[in-house]
Amino acid sequence: MKMTYDVVIIGAGLAGYSAALAAIKNNKKVLVTAKGLGNFYSASGYIDFLGYYPANSRKPLQNPKNSLKELIGNNPKHPYSLIGEKAIEAAFSIFLQTSKEMGLPYTGTMDENVLMPSAAGALIPTSLYPVTADKRVTETHELFVVGIKEMADFYPAYAAHNLKKQLKASIKHTWVALELGIGRELNSYDIALAMEKAEIRQRLVDQLKKAAVKGSLLAIPAVLGVKASQETIKNIEEELECRVLEFPTLPPSVMGYRLAENLKNYLELQGVDFIVGHPVSHVQYDGRICKEIGITTGSGRIKKIKANSFVLATGGVLSEGLFVYPGKIKETVFGLPVGMVQEAVPENFFNMDEFSISYAGVMTNEKLQPVKPGTQEVLYENIYIAGATLAGYDPFIEKSGNGVALASGYKAGLMAVTGRDTDE
Ligand SMILES: Cc1cc2nc3c(=O)[nH]c(=O)nc-3n(C[C@H](O)[C@H](O)[C@H](O)COP(=O)(O)OP(=O)(O)OC[C@H]3O[C@@H](n4cnc5c(N)ncnc54)[C@H](O)[C@@H]3O)c2cc1C
Repeated sequence: MKMTYDVVIIGAGLAGYSAALAAIKNNKKVLVTAKGLGNFYSASGYIDFLGYYPANSRKPLQNPKNSLKELIGNNPKHPYSLIGEKAIEAAFSIFLQTSKEMGLPYTGTMDENVLMPSAAGALIPTSLYPVTADKRVTETHELFVVGIKEMADFYPAYAAHNLKKQLKASIKHTWVALELGIGRELNSYDIALAMEKAEIRQRLVDQLKKAAVKGSLLAIPAVLGVKASQETIKNIEEELECRVLEFPTLPPSVMGYRLAENLKNYLELQGVDFIVGHPVSHVQYDGRICKEIGITTGSGRIKKIKANSFVLATGGVLSEGLFVYPGKIKETVFGLPVGMVQEAVPENFFNMDEFSISYAGVMTNEKLQPVKPGTQEVLYENIYIAGATLAGYDPFIEKSGNGVALASGYKAGLMAVTGRDTDE
């Protein structure tokens, strides 16, 4: 028997989940299918709206929303221009609300970029972040960067050294050893798993007491438990009489993991179905309408799935939603034409002002339906494109990756089930 849905969303990244959220809130039958995990597990878990504009500007925007109008006026092909201000605002507001309902509350606003420390001690602008990261290093007088001896890829002295160059505060670093008795270096997820145990957390607290951190802001890598760590942080703050800021680590990212797991659980509870682990291997059209897709499962059988509409949220080159061949870039599910490839071939490949291959992607109209590059000719009426598959922006240079994924996913999901671009 064929499976039938109102909408099938292809891709389990933030764009796909945001599309599923918009669709399920309209009481539709929704399936998310993906060949693998989204980029959550590598990324910080922050939702960057717009860090820099123009993209190659060196100075982070203080108020990204103020610059959005200018970006929309100057760059008609940018995804934010196609999505529109109203839908972007709706997507951010629904995400903040949902984050509370799913038990991983986020905070922040589109009107402000907050400078957050990276694992290397760089200050990076972002707009929405978990409440466990809601402490401002830029307003602190005394900062302690905490390293964990067993943890790979984090060097508190290096992070502290870099932060000193950017902040006026007194910045020190300290080490704690968790004495886990495992004879190898551990990654952030391993440490976070160990930190689920009260006894291990107590070792951290006892050593920090000796480091005399009272009254300071403690910057600790985001490893204080794999689940939402609000309660843990509150307890540590009370015991040490200081404030604690969690900041993202190198992959695997526990903050990203928490966001992915909480969103998926929330969507499942609302009734969204998931099939993860197999690529889309078959597509059937009737003229400009996609009728069904097929997924080849482990047994080699093709599972056929019908839907009224489809959201393509398969990511960019990194997730193989787009695949780079010598001289061309292909979209991997529907074989849609990829636009802005001209701009994607930089004169100087190592030009750090713009990593131009990011501009290549599927071109769409304002409804996010795919169009033939250079025209407004709609290729398929019931396919909507979201996230890093879209053409026309550089998420890394302008710092807009999850912002575009969230907003375009929301609009694509809503267009797919209602034909409208906001729920109001
Ligand atoms: C290391 C790193 C750090 C980052 N840090 C940040 C950050 O701090 N803040 C920020 O805002 N942005 C950040 N970004 C950017 C951000 O992560 C991306 O812009 C965002 O994840 C894009 O989401 P997406 O849903 O479009 O795609 P993805 O998250 O890439 O998801 C694509 C999905 O599609 C699936 N898929 C692909 N091809 C197929 C197929 N043929 N069939 C079925 N499924 C398929 C994949 O398996 C996956 O589930 C970072 C990116 C990287 C690489």
